[in-house]
Amino acid sequence: MTAPLPQGATIGILGGGQLGRMLAMAAARLGYRTVVLDPAEDSPAAQVANGFIHAAYDDTPALKKLLQQCDVITYEFENVPVATALSLSEEMSVFPPPEALEAAQDRLAEKIFLNTAGISTAPFLSVDNDDDLARGLERFSGGVLKTRRMGYDGKGQRVFRSADAGAHEGVFSEMGGVPLILEALVPFRREISVIAARAADGSTAIYDPAENEHRDGILHRSTVPAHVDAGTLAAAKQAAIDILGSLHYVGVLGVEFFVLDNGKVLVNEIAPRVHNSGHWTEAACTVCQFEQHIRAVAGLPLGDTGRHSDCVMENLIGDEVLRAPELLREPHLMLHLYGKTEIRPGRKMGHFTRLTRS
Ligand code: AMP
Repeated sequence: MTAPLPQGATIGILGGGQLGRMLAMAAARLGYRTVVLDPAEDSPAAQVANGFIHAAYDDTPALKKLLQQCDVITYEFENVPVATALSLSEEMSVFPPPEALEAAQDRLAEKIFLNTAGISTAPFLSVDNDDDLARGLERFSGGVLKTRRMGYDGKGQRVFRSADAGAHEGVFSEMGGVPLILEALVPFRREISVIAARAADGSTAIYDPAENEHRDGILHRSTVPAHVDAGTLAAAKQAAIDILGSLHYVGVLGVEFFVLDNGKVLVNEIAPRVHNSGHWTEAACTVCQFEQHIRAVAGLPLGDTGRHSDCVMENLIGDEVLRAPELLREPHLMLHLYGKTEIRPGRKMGHFTRLTRS
């Protein structure tokens, strides 16, 4: 086991969004410095980090500079190129391991990895032309067609409620002519997620599962505890532990699940990073997901995941952020704004967590 990072050491963060911002704030609280690398000029994380490298993820001189300034590297964005993570990992520890990025970036590779690890998912098949799609729609009596790469918040998806004749025609090119995956439409009762962490010594820490509601494909609300029975909670937590072990993971991982009528869980997707559905931990737990991730990558012991309150977290999307003054007046409510000055529809501007019972 390697020694923990000493005080004043620097953690490099690939990606400068709000997740990076909250990681940088947690790192500062533990006495670490951070340097953020992001292609966007005004990134929320750069506002609070000690250093900022404004560059593309594959900019070799910029990556060299990052290596010179840092002692360990992590990321807040799962579409960092795997080649970048691999080349950095030749020089310095990169956590979570680049293999986790690889598994999460391609929905087909992700499902194959999960099924090989003994974890259930929706039935799926790969789609590389309209004929593949026709066969899949027939087999699953409809389905959800997704781009294999770069999809998030429901982007790059199309739902087919049945296998109507001709429904497949021209769809492959309409979806951009890129590799696709068709998943069976899961008649889920609820969606839950688990935020889990693993340290380099193999110890794990898991938060209580949250129940998630989406609007327009974007997470709207996470409620804890989730309205599912103890068997379902245990199955979801066990699946998360199995995934962490299979990936020799170090850091925080988000796992999203569908809960079926019979209480069984299917993994929808994994995110090798801190996760929006774990923001509630900031207000309702002693050690939040951001600190937990920093602890893991810095080689510190993982923290207590105990929850002192029930809670509901809601995202503030677009002009919902204008509710901030009114939310600030509420007791038992923690507001977090991301420092984004331009309001755009669909843009995550902040979130709040309302403590509902302690
Ligand atoms: P994703 O980008 O894969 O997380 O999908 C966004 C949302 O679409 C999920 O949170 C679900 O609400 C819905 N969804 C995705 N895949 C399926 C599926 N196979 N069956 C039913 N609903 C799905």
